Amino acid sequence: METLNVQIESKSENESLARVIVSAFAARLDPTLEEISDIKTAVSEAVTNCVIHGYEEKDGIIFIECTIEENNLTISIKDEGVGIEDIEKARLPMYSTKRDKERSGMGFSFMEIFMDKLTVESELNKGTVVTMIKKIGNIS
Ligand code: ATP
Ligand code: MG
Repeated sequence: METLNVQIESKSENESLARVIVSAFAARLDPTLEEISDIKTAVSEAVTNCVIHGYEEKDGIIFIECTIEENNLTISIKDEGVGIEDIEKARLPMYSTKRDKERSGMGFSFMEIFMDKLTVESELNKGTVVTMIKKIGNIS
């Protein structure tokens, strides 16, 4: 097993940094361009959610943990922000608590579509952890 642990400041400029770090780590599994692009999209959505919803654009730390086990990549993205009241509802396509601010409510749906597994754990005023698993190289 190989692991990567990084903490980044909660800023929208850091979304691209998070994407690059995670995809560089994932490169060890020799993913296709499509797989890399799926991972980047999912990481972007999760980090954006921490910045916009979790920390409401205020200061905070985003914790990123990745592991590679055989050909499975697990990415866990955590904030210590406001938390989610109703996770089931939040995961529904087109559900957003910030629709007024041009959010379409598709972040969780994209994470679900582009990764093989998505779990969301959250506690109000404690924070949120999103864990995504993707199997790289679906041959055999
Ligand atoms: P989009 O991602 O399309 O811009 P969105 O962020 O509102 O819109 P999702 O990413 O699917 O949509 O998230 C759905 C809802 O879940 C959000 O509107 C927000 O209420 C809640 N949410 C998601 N991530 C977090 C988080 N890290 N902390 C607190 N609430 C969150
Ligand atoms: Mg979102």
